[in-house]
Amino acid sequence: MFEALRSPAAFLRHTLGELPQGPAFREYESWWEREGKPISDATDRAGTPWLRMFDRSGNRVDEILFAPEYWSALRTGYEAGAVWRAFEEHSLTSCLLLDYIACFYDPGITCPYTVSLATAVAVDKYARPDLKARFLPAMLRKDGAPWQGATWMTELGGGSDLGAGVETVARPAGDHWLLIGDKYFASNAGAELAVVAARPEGAPHNVRGLALFLLPRRRENGELNYFVRRLKDKIGTRSVPTGEVELRDSEAWLLGSTDKGIHLILEVLNLSRVANSMGSVAVAQRALAEALGFAEQRVAFGKPVIEHPLLRKQFEEHFSALQAAMALAWGAVQHLDEVWRETSPYSGCYHLFRLVAHLAKYWTSDLAPRIARWAMEVHGGLGALAEFPAERWFREAMVLTIWEGTCHRQILDGLEVMERKGAHRLLFDRLRRLTDVTAMEARVERHLGLPVDEREARAEELFRDLAVFVASTLR
Ligand SMILES: Cc1cc2nc3c(=O)[nH]c(=O)nc-3n(C[C@H](O)[C@H](O)[C@H](O)COP(=O)(O)OP(=O)(O)OC[C@H]3O[C@@H](n4cnc5c(N)ncnc54)[C@H](O)[C@@H]3O)c2cc1C
Repeated sequence: MFEALRSPAAFLRHTLGELPQGPAFREYESWWEREGKPISDATDRAGTPWLRMFDRSGNRVDEILFAPEYWSALRTGYEAGAVWRAFEEHSLTSCLLLDYIACFYDPGITCPYTVSLATAVAVDKYARPDLKARFLPAMLRKDGAPWQGATWMTELGGGSDLGAGVETVARPAGDHWLLIGDKYFASNAGAELAVVAARPEGAPHNVRGLALFLLPRRRENGELNYFVRRLKDKIGTRSVPTGEVELRDSEAWLLGSTDKGIHLILEVLNLSRVANSMGSVAVAQRALAEALGFAEQRVAFGKPVIEHPLLRKQFEEHFSALQAAMALAWGAVQHLDEVWRETSPYSGCYHLFRLVAHLAKYWTSDLAPRIARWAMEVHGGLGALAEFPAERWFREAMVLTIWEGTCHRQILDGLEVMERKGAHRLLFDRLRRLTDVTAMEARVERHLGLPVDEREARAEELFRDLAVFVASTLR
C-alpha cells in the first residue's frame, strides 16, 4: 500500500495519473538515486557554499564557491528543464513537477530553480524588449549552465510587512535606475540576474510605493553590481547560498511601471508559494519514506514496528494526509497555469488562484514539519541522531513554513482576497460541482462579517478547515 512513498515519480503517478513527461521525470529521479543522493548529503553536512570576497590581488569578487559535485547536481536539474520547459511548453507544470522530484532529494537545490523560473517569467512579461532579448535567452539555455535568477524583497526590518520593511531606494539615472539599500535574506546569492523590490525616490512609504527592478550581477562596465556581505548559516536548505546583499548605486531596470510594482512583486511571490507547496509535499513524502524504511526493519515485541496496529494506522493516516496535500498543491499548480500570463487588472480567475495558493502554501508547509516530526519519532532515539536522515527532513521542513511568507501571512492574505475580491465565491462555484459546499460557504461568509480584530484572531481555524475541505474535495 505504501510502495508509492519510496519514489517521487511513483507518488506523482499514484496521485496524478500517468503524465506525458513521465519518462523524463523517471530519468531525473534515477540520476538522483545514482549520483545525487550522496552529493546532497555531503552538501547538507559539510559542503555548504562559501563566500570568497577577495581575489589574490585584493580585488572584491564576492564569488560563491561550491563543491564541483554540487554544480553537477544543479546543472542536471537545469538541463532537465527546471526553467526552459515553461517557455517551450507554454506551461509551468513540468517545471513544478521537476521541482517536486528535486525537492524530495534536496530542498535547497529546488530554490535556485524556483527563483530562476520566477525571474525568467518576470523578465518575459515585464522587461523592455531590448532587455528581454538580451537576458531571456541566457536564462533559457538548455546546456545546464543558464543564467540564474533570484528574488530579493526582504530587508532587516522584516519581510511580512514589505510596505514598511523595504528601505531600498531607487533613483532614476537616464534609461535605468540606481538602487541603494540592503537585502537581508537573498537566496541564490551570486545569481546573474535578480528581481528586487525597491522604492522609487519620493514614492509613498507603503506597499503602493514599491516597484520591481531587474538587477544584473555585473554593471555595464563589467564591475560587480551588488555585493554579498555574508552567507547565512542555516538550519535547512543548506545547499542554496542565502546571503546578505548590499546595493550601492547598483544599476537596475524597472520592470513594468512604478504604479503596479506591488502586483509584480506578488506575482513573483505567488509563483514561489506554489512551488513551495509542491516542495512541502515532497519533503513530507521523503520524511514518510524514511520512516517507512526504518519501521520495516526495526523489530520490537517480536515483529517489525510497521506491523503493529497503532503505528500502521498512523502511517495510513499520514499517507492519506499526504495525498490530500498533493491534491491541494496540484490544484494551486493548475490554477497558476491558467493565469500566469495575466497582468493587472486581473480576472476573477487570478484572485481565485491567489486564494488557492495561500491555502496550499499554508496547509502543505504546516503539514510537512508535522509529518517530519512524526517520522523522527518513528525512528525512536535514533531519529535524534545526525547519522539518521530523519533530523534532516525536519530541519528542511522548518524552512518551508517560513520563507515565501509564514503561515500567518498566508492566512491574512487569504482572508484579504476573500474579503476584497470575493475569491471564495469563485472557489465554491467550482467546488459545487464536486461536493455540497453549503455549510462551509455559510461559515466563510459569517466569518468575513466579524469585526476586524475577531476576524483575524479566529482566522486560523477557519483557514485550516477550508484548506482541508478544498484538499479533500479535490482529491
Ligand atoms: C532560508 C531563508 C531564505 C530566504 N530567502 C529569501 C529570499 O531569497 N528573498 C526574500 O525576499 N526573502 C527571503 N527570505 C525571507 C523570508 O521570506 C522571510 O523570513 C519571511 O517572509 C518572514 O519575514 P521576517 O523573517 O522578516 O519575519 P517578520 O516579518 O519580522 O515577522 C515575524 C513574525 O511575526 C508574524 N507576523 C507579522 N505580521 C503579522 C500579522 N499581521 N499578524 C500575525 N502575525 C504576523 C510573522 O508571520 C512572523 O511569524 C528567506 C528566509 C529564509 C529563512
